[in-house]
Amino acid sequence: MKFLLTTSQGIEDIAGREVASLMERLGVPFRVEEKPLGVEGRLLLEADKAYYTDEKGRKRELSIATYLNESSRLLHRVILEIASERFEGIGEEEPETALKRIKEFVSSLPIERFVKVSESFAVRPFRKGEHKITSVEIARTVGEAIFERLSRFGSPRVNLDHPAVIFRAELVGEVFFLGIDTTGDSSLHKRPWRVYNHPAHLKASIANALIELVEPDGRSFIDPFCGSGTILIELALRGYEGRIIGLEKYRKHIRGAEMNALAAGVLDRIEFIHGDATKLSQYVESVDFAVSNLPYGLKIGRKSMIPRLYMAFFGELSKVLEKRGVFITTEKKAIEKAITENGFKIKHHRLIGHGGLMVHTYVVE
Ligand code: SAM
Repeated sequence: MKFLLTTSQGIEDIAGREVASLMERLGVPFRVEEKPLGVEGRLLLEADKAYYTDEKGRKRELSIATYLNESSRLLHRVILEIASERFEGIGEEEPETALKRIKEFVSSLPIERFVKVSESFAVRPFRKGEHKITSVEIARTVGEAIFERLSRFGSPRVNLDHPAVIFRAELVGEVFFLGIDTTGDSSLHKRPWRVYNHPAHLKASIANALIELVEPDGRSFIDPFCGSGTILIELALRGYEGRIIGLEKYRKHIRGAEMNALAAGVLDRIEFIHGDATKLSQYVESVDFAVSNLPYGLKIGRKSMIPRLYMAFFGELSKVLEKRGVFITTEKKAIEKAITENGFKIKHHRLIGHGGLMVHTYVVE
C-alpha cells in the first residue's frame, strides 16, 4: 500500500521521522520518502499491510490510515494513493488539452478496486504552480472520469457535501496525484481543542516541529509570546513532565489560551502568566527551553516596533535561558541582529511554510 502524507513545507524530515517511529511500533516493513517527485510538503509511505491477532487468535487487519490519522502530530492528511504521474509541459497547455490529458489518465485507473461503487463520492482538488486550468476544472474533470469508470460496474453517486468517499486530486507543478483522502475534509492540523481562535495562531503541526527542534529533555519550557497556547498545549498533550509556562501580553489571548488548554484537558499542566516578554526576567528566574512564534507585526501591532521588541526580548532571554531556544518569524534581519547582539549562537536555520509565507526558523543556544 502506498500513502501520500501531507504536512507543512520545510518540516518533511521531521514528519518523516515521526512516521518512521510510528510505523516501527506497528512492526511492518515500510519505506518513507520525503518530497516524492520533488513535491514539497509531501511524504510517500510504502508499507505492507498491518495485522494483529484478536482474542480468539484470529489474524485481523489494522488500518494504517486510521492509525496515522489518530497518532500523528505532524501530518495534515493521510491519502491512500491510487496513482501519481508527471505530466510534462502541462503548465503551458491550453485548458482543453490539459484537462483531456488528466481525464484520459484517470479513466485508465482501476478506481473500482479502491471503493464500493454504491458509496457516494466527491473530488476535492488542490492545485499549486502555473497552469491555465483551475482547481475547480480539475475537480470536475476528475469527477467525470471517476463517474464514467464506475458506471461500468454499477450506479455511482456523487455527493459534494457529505460524501462517503473523498477523492483527492492534486496538481502541483507537473505532478498529478490521485488518492482517497482518509483524513476527511478537516486537515489534522486543525485541532479539536481550539475553542479560541487567535488571529495569528500557529499550525499545530508546526508547533510540534518546533518542539522536536528544541529537543526538550523534561526540564522547564516556556513560550514567552504564547498567544492561544498552541505550542504549550501540544507539548502538554505529548505527556511532557517538566514545568510548562506561557507568557502573553494581552489578557484576551491568555484567557483564550486557558480555554484551549481546558478543552485539551491540560489546563492544570500549564502556568499561564499575563505579562510582557521584554520583562521576562521579572517572571522567571531561569528556564531551560524557550519556543515561540514571535509577533511579526503583520496581523497584530506595527512592523516598525519589531526590531526594538526583539532586541529587548532577546536581552531578557539571555538572563534566563539555560539551554536552547527555537523561534519562528518572517523578520530575518531583526531576529538575527537580536540573537547575535545578545550573545546567542544560531545552531540551525530553516524555512517553514506557514500561512502562505516561508517563515524563518532558528535554533539558538
Ligand atoms: N503561537 C501563538 C498561537 O498559536 O496562538 C501565536 C503567537 S502570535 C504570533 C504572537 C503573540 O505575541 C500575540 O498573541 C501577541 O499578543 C503577543 N505579544 C506581543 N508582544 C508581546 C510582549 N511584549 N510580550 C508578550 N506577548 C506579546
